Amino acid sequence: MRIDCHVHTTYGEVTQETFLSRLNQAGVDGGIIFSQSPSRFGGSEISPKERIENVLEWTKGHKWLFPFYFIDPTGETAMDEVDLAASMGIKGFKIICSTHYPSDPRAVPVYQHIANKGLPILFHSGILYDGKNASGNYNKPTEFEVLLSIDNLRFALAHVSWPWTDECIAVYGKFNNSLKKGGDRAATAEMFIDICPGTPFIYRKDMLEKLLLTGYDIEDNVLWGVDSNANDYGTDYALRIFEFDDKAFDDLQISREVKNKIYYENVLRFLGVSK
Ligand SMILES: [Zn+2]
Repeated sequence: MRIDCHVHTTYGEVTQETFLSRLNQAGVDGGIIFSQSPSRFGGSEISPKERIENVLEWTKGHKWLFPFYFIDPTGETAMDEVDLAASMGIKGFKIICSTHYPSDPRAVPVYQHIANKGLPILFHSGILYDGKNASGNYNKPTEFEVLLSIDNLRFALAHVSWPWTDECIAVYGKFNNSLKKGGDRAATAEMFIDICPGTPFIYRKDMLEKLLLTGYDIEDNVLWGVDSNANDYGTDYALRIFEFDDKAFDDLQISREVKNKIYYENVLRFLGVSK
């Protein structure tokens, strides 16, 4: 089984059947599906409720499709949006820090509110292709250390923070060490790494080797994903990523058991869902 932890949607018509058949052709059984992003740059505003309803339609009635609400945690109504999303059946949140640091004081209480509901957050990290907007510095892995102080949060950094993959692995080491330490001064936030590209192929095997074989306790915290869009799921692209990654895992002598964790078991734990 494989679950793609990173699928976008564009607000509008929902074609779940076509999406599912494309997923199947790529050998993928399910995914985390993000709602349309909040409007930030003057585009037409779609209400939170409409964006939630739209993503719920994409995932409706399917055991392995998990709806995430794409929230702006700096927005004035963010706390209410968390409550609304959770009450409507949203299973987690997607955040892109395009105009603020992860440590923005408006956002920090929103992360804690999400964690208190037992729901996870998947953050973009790394370079961000958002036109003329200068956003790289908001998305460097160490900027996410602020999450050490969020109790019981489960969060993932996407794209292994390309091109700051070494820094991402080091930040993972810190979170994992703090979590395992226990006691009063330890963090209870748990970090996951979403390995969807991100890394161009020429860097990718090297990145996977360092991610998986540095010696950190990582095998339960890596999530596999493609970063495509449900409206037009890139079957060929998804297959290409899978074939590349699967061969890299074999070359690195990653066991079948660990591969299964990366392909679906870890994402279910991230979601708080049992098999
Ligand atoms: Zn994405």
